Amino acid sequence: MSAPHYPPAVKLVEVGPRDGLQNEPRFLDTATKVEFIRRLAESGLPVIEVASFVHPEAVPQLADAEAVCGLLKPRPGVRYTALVPNLQGLERALTAGVGAIAVFTAASETFNRKNIRCGIEQSLRRIAPVVERARAAGLPVRAYLSCVLGCPYEGPVSPERVASLAGRLHELGCGEIALGDTIGAGTPLAVCRVVEATAHRVPLGRIAVHFHDTRGQALANILACLGLGISIIDAAVAGLGGCPYAPGASGNVATEDVAYLLAGMGIETGVDLARLIDTGRFISAVLGRDNRSRVGQAGPPAPAC
Ligand code: MG
Repeated sequence: MSAPHYPPAVKLVEVGPRDGLQNEPRFLDTATKVEFIRRLAESGLPVIEVASFVHPEAVPQLADAEAVCGLLKPRPGVRYTALVPNLQGLERALTAGVGAIAVFTAASETFNRKNIRCGIEQSLRRIAPVVERARAAGLPVRAYLSCVLGCPYEGPVSPERVASLAGRLHELGCGEIALGDTIGAGTPLAVCRVVEATAHRVPLGRIAVHFHDTRGQALANILACLGLGISIIDAAVAGLGGCPYAPGASGNVATEDVAYLLAGMGIETGVDLARLIDTGRFISAVLGRDNRSRVGQAGPPAPAC
């Protein structure tokens, strides 16, 4: 029996400061956010989503996006990215000097209407000029496609629908398409069907996977995706996150757990696991919440005892 051909290296995309903190009940002050991001960067993470330029009233936890971006120190090998909903948000992001942006839509009509108050087609029309303007300004663009393995309102979502939308986002100029299992519904074979369908429309090296660990399937899903050659993985340190429009959705897969898995497989990430674990413990303590990373709880394995 031959082992799947795994990628030699994986790009970890840390979404904790944005996807994580936007779901916290309390506002984390700007200085602590910046310190959190600094520690993440020191851990060797190459891409960190640091802010959201949605309307401050929509996500008050991230209303200090400009201040956060203004205090970040540029670091070689680290890209700071931000979520952008529209042209207004893009102008704010450009002024704040982010290194890349992310736009977003969902593979579910109902989820989109609840989350961003417009349908899928309307959201694509809204995204198109944002992508064009961002690229003209020299910024790489990633697109999030949510609910690719199921919608909390509509139920199952077909892989063909996901692939078609991912293809259209790619054609619009989004250089990376992140497939989001927003409600953590996916299991490995279902995930593989979605990734394989999408790979007909988007080059495999441009597809990222974004799992929530709601039902404990995230690492199994990631392993399955690695076997297909996926090499971009989203995660949030300490398993931060959730989604206010996806009832029952728990946090993102924990970056520490993914980094531990990849290290054990000999897959390069550039991440210093010990520092990452410290960062997860730091943010959990600051927020006064449980650390949802199993590796973060246990630490690295001790020598024989
Ligand atoms: Mg997420």
